Amino acid sequence: MEDCLFCRIASGEIGSKKAFEDDRVLAFYDINPAAPVHILIIPKQHIQSAYDLKEEDGALLGHMFEVAAKIAQEQGIAESGYRLVTNIGQAAGQSVPHLHLHLLGGRDLTWPPG
Ligand code: AMP
Ligand code: ZN
Repeated sequence: MEDCLFCRIASGEIGSKKAFEDDRVLAFYDINPAAPVHILIIPKQHIQSAYDLKEEDGALLGHMFEVAAKIAQEQGIAESGYRLVTNIGQAAGQSVPHLHLHLLGGRDLTWPPG
């Protein structure tokens, strides 16, 4: 989608600090980190949010979680623990309408989130 920020980051039109990339997903550092490790994992195809996922997206979703695990390992937070979050819609605070997993770690994370 032309006017989608994360589609433009996925295409390379807008720069990002990459943590991982392949043909299906891109992971990049959040511009406004909420934890010592805060990386966003996005599909390269435009999907608005987790609300829009279909059963046929299962392989892509599994891949996103596997990429998250690989990054957590690389960042040294796999053993201590980390959190994967995806916000859906306005009340949850989704500010970019392109599916993304927040990978958060490197500190103790409180529960429940605000
Ligand atoms: P959400 O509020 O769940 O939609 O998450 C969107 C996230 O994208 C926020 O944590 C922002 O800090 C982050 N963000 C927005 N613009 C950029 C950008 N250009 N590069 C990296 N992260 C961004
Ligand atoms: Zn998009």
